[in-house]
Amino acid sequence: MARINENYRKLQAGYLFPEIGRRVKAFQTEHPDAQIIRLGIGDVTLPLAPAVVQALHAAADEMGTAEGFRGYGPERGAEQFLLDGILEYDFAARGVTLEPDEIFVSDGSKQDSANIQEIFGPNCSIAVTDPVYPVYVDTNVMAGRTGEADTDGRYPGILYLAATEENGFVPPPPTGPADVAYLCSPNNPTGAVASRDDLARWVGWARNHDAIIIYDAAYDAFIQDPSLPRSIYEIEGAEVCAIEMRSFSKRAGFTGMRCAYTVVPKALAGTTASGERVALNDLWMRRQSTKFNAVPYVVQRAAAAVFTPEGQKQTREQIDYYMANAALLRDGLGGAGFTCFGGEHAPYVWIRTPEGLSSWDCFDRVLGEAHVVTTPGAGFGACGEGYVRISAFNSREKVEAAVLRIRRAFAD
Ligand SMILES: *Cc1c(COP(=O)(O)O)cnc(C)c1O
Repeated sequence: MARINENYRKLQAGYLFPEIGRRVKAFQTEHPDAQIIRLGIGDVTLPLAPAVVQALHAAADEMGTAEGFRGYGPERGAEQFLLDGILEYDFAARGVTLEPDEIFVSDGSKQDSANIQEIFGPNCSIAVTDPVYPVYVDTNVMAGRTGEADTDGRYPGILYLAATEENGFVPPPPTGPADVAYLCSPNNPTGAVASRDDLARWVGWARNHDAIIIYDAAYDAFIQDPSLPRSIYEIEGAEVCAIEMRSFSKRAGFTGMRCAYTVVPKALAGTTASGERVALNDLWMRRQSTKFNAVPYVVQRAAAAVFTPEGQKQTREQIDYYMANAALLRDGLGGAGFTCFGGEHAPYVWIRTPEGLSSWDCFDRVLGEAHVVTTPGAGFGACGEGYVRISAFNSREKVEAAVLRIRRAFAD
């Protein structure tokens, strides 16, 4: 008899995006002529940059030659040409020195942020912000680190740190200990970005408590102010307390291509029951070499093209395009009396629902009257209630139309 992992039964039904899909479908069926604009799900919309496509073609041709064919990748999975680009453009350019074997290239930050908890003990305590990217929570539930969810959908065993207007949606570290804390900056869903001081406080806390920070920087390329940190390793001491995740998904339109990387500095250690210090880099290497067989060569070539001068320029233009959309959303809705947050260093605008509407009521009203799909903040956690997320990932025309329609829907 195959007993199941009953921790899976503790998960709330995959509620948010299926429920949005259900409501949008029902609305479209009732109003077949409505031109619905989707600013809900956080997926990119622009095609791949020409430099990326060129590299992809060239690599595909190479694979079709006797000399260029590649089977399994190198031992650690990552090709040197990609590591070189990452080390130079993402770190050295920001004053951060890392070693190639501290970088683990993968097929996505979703998987990395889901899998990283495997290298920690079953009794580690977990801290997350609320609202939160659901992957951090659900994977710890699956691993058995929590009890059953309460009526707010919160799990005992997880410490939730409220991201509020008062703290600028960047919660300070907890006053007490936690073993592993997940941070996401620029943030999905709130669009908030952590300052150097914010991160310094977190690093100080982690070092005091011998905790590990999992830093998800999937949206680092959207940071507009060069004085804001792009990497947590720009903060002194982070290399002994932080793992960082970056992705090509949002920065270069790779959501369908799949390429990301995780940094596990060699100075990072956890402890055994007997107090022995063990390098997390060795554990993650062991995990990846046992359960993962690298990113396709053609995809690594395509990702490396992001670091060429043309690739940099073209992907920068894509980011600028989305950020101009974000500014239109912020200014257009802010000018009409909505209270907007985020959207300055992230492709998401976090809007306080007007007239005291709940997240879902606001979602329904925007869908019903403006035919625009948003994401109810409550779907990301109890503290997301009273907010909706609007994404800047769409065409200029659709974003402009969405702003006008939402303004009209709430005009009186
Ligand atoms: C989109 C996103 C990612 C990236 O996921 P991939 O698997 O690399 O596509 C990671 N974290 C957050 C918070 C995201 O929104």
